[in-house]
Amino acid sequence: MRFDIPPKAQYILQALTGAGYEAYLVGGCVRDLLRGVEPHDWDICTSARPEETERCFVGHRIIETGLKHGTVTVLEDGEPYEITTYRTEGPYSDSRRPDFVEFVSSLETDLARRDFTMNAIAMGLDGSLRDPFGGATDIQAGLIRCVGEPACRFQEDGLRVMRALRFAAVLGYKIEEKTARAIHENRHMLEHVAAERINVELCKLLTGVNVGEILRQYPDVLCQFWSQLGPLVTLEQNNPWHCWGGWEHTIHAVEAAPADLILRLTMLLHDIGKPACKSTDEKGIDHFYGHPAVSAKLAGEMLRSLKFDNKTRERVVTLVEYHDVQIPNRERSIRKWLGCLGPEAFFQLLEVKRADGMGQAYDLVKDRLAELEEMKAKAEEIVAQGQCFSLKDLAVNGRDVISAGVAPGPEVGRVLNGLLEQVLGGEIPNERKALLERLAFSRLQPPPGLNGR
Ligand code: ATP
Ligand code: MG
Repeated sequence: MRFDIPPKAQYILQALTGAGYEAYLVGGCVRDLLRGVEPHDWDICTSARPEETERCFVGHRIIETGLKHGTVTVLEDGEPYEITTYRTEGPYSDSRRPDFVEFVSSLETDLARRDFTMNAIAMGLDGSLRDPFGGATDIQAGLIRCVGEPACRFQEDGLRVMRALRFAAVLGYKIEEKTARAIHENRHMLEHVAAERINVELCKLLTGVNVGEILRQYPDVLCQFWSQLGPLVTLEQNNPWHCWGGWEHTIHAVEAAPADLILRLTMLLHDIGKPACKSTDEKGIDHFYGHPAVSAKLAGEMLRSLKFDNKTRERVVTLVEYHDVQIPNRERSIRKWLGCLGPEAFFQLLEVKRADGMGQAYDLVKDRLAELEEMKAKAEEIVAQGQCFSLKDLAVNGRDVISAGVAPGPEVGRVLNGLLEQVLGGEIPNERKALLERLAFSRLQPPPGLNGR
């Protein structure tokens, strides 16, 4: 089989081998070549020591930040190539790098430190493979298998637990049985892993094609860093709207959402407050009154604990908070919600509602799903026509209100909002002339209270 190694990566391999060192492509790029997918970056391993590597690339721009760990980054036409000396490594107690590394002279030793067989294959310039752990066969079989004894490997670095789940979700691979067992048994190792590292893997996992299956099989792993998920995983919902328990509903909702991080996080967390809100009526039907607000609060805490950025956290919390709100299928309400949330969040909310519906008893919600489609079309039209749905779209502004005789201060805002209400309700067109006339007219009216006395 011939593989397309791009000329720049070939050049780097040649520069090293030409100087008498061994050099191979390694890790994700080899895995992706074997899967028939174009790699997104090219990592190289070499027998050259870092200072020797640097000498091979005199005249190139070099980034030395990884030097202590044996990594020299060479920039070829602005593109970074990480070249790492064969090494073994100590534990990762900080967030990114192993505590110490030791340079070694054999490729096999370097490959043995790597996490999974599919990531422990080296490829030479001529396309030949060095694959001591049978990674190519595992790729063909779609299997994720630890290099060496799984339990030991997860104990060395707990992050590998999440990496296994992430690769399984993204690649749609199965996790080999012994590796899977060791994941469950060593999930507590995640306690020693920095939140930022877990965050990166979780984000990739959630947008993977096989996320549903992973959530179904490994809720215990997620509970390790988000214990709040525990009660949702076991939640029963005896309610005609729901054909599944809390966790299975969540899984269906996550799967039904587009592969977008905000939407997938929202679906994962939208019902997190349900267990705390559960009540059962005299007919034995379960209710979850007020759960969106409780879910929003919990979701905010969970996202904060896993160090999500403010923008992501705030948007997910908003979507969770409103996921169950009833928006009437009328232009006036759509304009109002567009104005209240802004178009981006409004369209996201429609996706959230659709995904939530897909996780419920389909016969009961199919009309609602069709209605959501109609609302989406209406909202798109409103936005495309540049129709007014918020104060900034109104054809008059604060200065106009003041010119009409309103004293500067909070009253200006009240008057503007009053006009917006009338535009949203279709009582006046969003045209400057009509709005100014309405303003002048309302100024002529006697203040409330004096009328007719
Ligand atoms: P991606 O496509 O996400 O970049 P990748 O396999 O390249 O996948 P990286 O995190 O870029 O993943 O790591 C590069 C390589 O380093 C991996 O293929 C693997 O061989 C090794 N590696 C990375 N993290 C670990 C780890 N925690 N334990 C062992 N080996 C690791
Ligand atoms: Mg990579």
